[in-house]
Amino acid sequence: STSTTLSITVVGASGDLAKKKIFPALFALFYEGCLPHDFSVFGYARTKLTHEELRVMISRTLTCRIDQRENCVDKMDQFLKRCFYHSGQYNSEEDFAELNTKLKEKEEGKLSNRLYYLSIPPNIFVDVVRCASLRASSANGWTRVIVEKPFGRDSQSSGELTRCLKQYLTEEQIFRIDHYLGKELVENLSVLRFSNLVFEPLWSRNYIRNVQLIFSEDFGTEGRGGYFDQYGIIRDIMQNHLLQILALFAMETPVSLDAEDIRSEKVKVLRSMKPLLLQDMVVGQYKGHSKGGKAYPGYTDDPTVPKNSLTPTFAAAAMFINNARWDGVPFLMKAGKALHTRGAEIRVQFRHVPGNLYKKNFATDLDKATNELVIRVQPDEGIYLRINNKVPGLGMRLDRSDLNLLYRSRYILSVSNSINQEFFNFTLFFFRVCVDRYPREIPDAYERLLLDAIEGERRLFIRSDELDAAWDLFTPVLKELEQKKIVPELYPYGSRGPVGAHYLASKYNVRWGDLEDA
Ligand code: NAP
Repeated sequence: STSTTLSITVVGASGDLAKKKIFPALFALFYEGCLPHDFSVFGYARTKLTHEELRVMISRTLTCRIDQRENCVDKMDQFLKRCFYHSGQYNSEEDFAELNTKLKEKEEGKLSNRLYYLSIPPNIFVDVVRCASLRASSANGWTRVIVEKPFGRDSQSSGELTRCLKQYLTEEQIFRIDHYLGKELVENLSVLRFSNLVFEPLWSRNYIRNVQLIFSEDFGTEGRGGYFDQYGIIRDIMQNHLLQILALFAMETPVSLDAEDIRSEKVKVLRSMKPLLLQDMVVGQYKGHSKGGKAYPGYTDDPTVPKNSLTPTFAAAAMFINNARWDGVPFLMKAGKALHTRGAEIRVQFRHVPGNLYKKNFATDLDKATNELVIRVQPDEGIYLRINNKVPGLGMRLDRSDLNLLYRSRYILSVSNSINQEFFNFTLFFFRVCVDRYPREIPDAYERLLLDAIEGERRLFIRSDELDAAWDLFTPVLKELEQKKIVPELYPYGSRGPVGAHYLASKYNVRWGDLEDA
């Protein structure tokens, strides 16, 4: 409504994440007509900047997703005019009181909602939350706070952080962001499962042999290892992103799509998990390697990393869910930096066909001939189902083929597709609102999550009890790794990671799927 205003304050506006993700996502939402009519965006940080300097800084990273739209530059100008900057300390109530005055000026006495995005290091979360909630909360609307990971580094520190935040905020005001939950294919996981008869009946130990959650980066820390070294790959990727996907994958059917119903089902999965044991875990660290005349540095060659660091840059784990649906099914996770490829995917390997009539007709061994469902989260989003198929011809030879849903070819508009383009322009002309249509590009996860926070949709944010359960699963093994000073297995930069991961998988009769094997 025109009598409600929205103020979004990006705390840590001078930083990397703000520049790369938050401001571009806010602009995209504005551009798509998803922001309320009256809104303003404030950047807050210690760096001294004028409004104009902030605008110049962020204008460099704004992009028009739908190219060739003449009004894009116009839209950028309109957006930038609504962006302001306030410089202040993170622990100063006075500075936040000044911010409050400026926010009020823009809000002009209307009903005002306020969203804070904490894009700052975790050691100052609580200071900012204290100052903002005491001195710069909305007087008549809602105040919400988006918090970035890391949410602590073990059960204890995470619990402590939550306790401190809750001195100033209620659970309803805290939006813990896990940007993997904003990814299109992760959001689609429940749709795939609960709205297709062909999947849900197979979704159990009766038909599924194992599930793999794989994350891979093809670069190392490259001089930015300071933050990473204190956390390591298990905390940085597994305990949050991969475990969240696992919980969504494995949960029972929720009562409804309400945030509380979904999050309650996810917690049940996490709390049903068998304690993770050190012997079901492999850790690795990349070492220097030269390939094709080029030298790639090892992790400890990074000047921001201590020379004797034992921090894992790779980890693999075998996990189990002790419930009726998943009893005995290995859930394997693998995450690593400086590997041969980049990507994130979920691979579901199905059981053998009992008494297979076609045993003799397979070119490869039967073990490789089971069905597999692959959900590729990034890059090049897609879903494919591996099936066995007769090779055309007079003989009876079988091979594996894919039923392939590649988002790039199914959903993304191409410039040359003029009919779609016209339809698109038409839609845009008549519905100047936030409409669903085939996009030119899949929206960034941050767009969806920011929009959800604005709309009060909590489904994709982590509730405190979920976070506790996630840490309870990983904390004992993390402590053990650190106390026993377990030395990670070295693997060359650009390789497939330590061989230990293969031994771990084969212990449970699993063969890792290959990211490139699409
Ligand atoms: P960043 O650039 O290191 O920090 C953001 C801003 O915080 C800086 O511009 C700086 O602003 C202020 N700051 C930095 N160090 C500080 C310190 N020691 N004490 C007080 N203020 C400090 O971080 P970022 O990459 O934008 O990320 C923001 C937050 O998101 C971090 O907490 C990070 O852990 C989390 N995160 C980032 C990513 C990512 O992709 N970048 C991913 C996951 C999580 P001023 O000096 O101007 O005050």
